[in-house]
Amino acid sequence: MAFSVPPLPYDFNALEPHIDAQTMEIHHDKHHAAYVTNANAALEGTEWADTPVEEILTNLSSLPADKQGPVRNNAGGHYNHSLFWESMSADGGGEPTGALGEAISSTFGGFSDFQAQLKAAGIGRFGSGWAWLIHDGSGLAIVSTPNQDNPISDGKTPLLGVDVWEHAYYLKYQNRRPDYLDAWWGTVNWEKVAERFAAV
Ligand code: MN
Repeated sequence: MAFSVPPLPYDFNALEPHIDAQTMEIHHDKHHAAYVTNANAALEGTEWADTPVEEILTNLSSLPADKQGPVRNNAGGHYNHSLFWESMSADGGGEPTGALGEAISSTFGGFSDFQAQLKAAGIGRFGSGWAWLIHDGSGLAIVSTPNQDNPISDGKTPLLGVDVWEHAYYLKYQNRRPDYLDAWWGTVNWEKVAERFAAV
């Protein structure tokens, strides 16, 4: 099965005022769709064409050499955006509770410290990329990746990621990436993040 763009789990305007409807529509229907089209084109006719995207991204070095770059970027883009849409919700925001909330507090010193560190990772990513909360096998950590790279290619588990490509925020926030990151907290679907944490 070739990859396909998953429907957004909410309306384009559901994340207003944090993320505007036009950004969501272009981001989902144009940017994500392009990653899917290009990933499928790169994989077509190879033995990897029907492989789950997670398996592809954890085995990039096993792909034909001329496919590794296009697949890293485009299958990565497909995976990252699929995770990103699911990480947000119309009634998102607030703070995580339970085991995830406790792990964040004990690892980062408190929820606001965690927020500051993830924001710094997003601001510090030069150019395009992502900032992530991951489980690295022993505990929680914050990392950033360039382009459409994903922590699973490094053997880590992404729990929450925020897209810091300009296409994710430029219509509403222009050059103000820090303002976008501040607003994005109001969208986070902590129940989904807790599910991922519990599954590690
Ligand atoms: Mn994006």
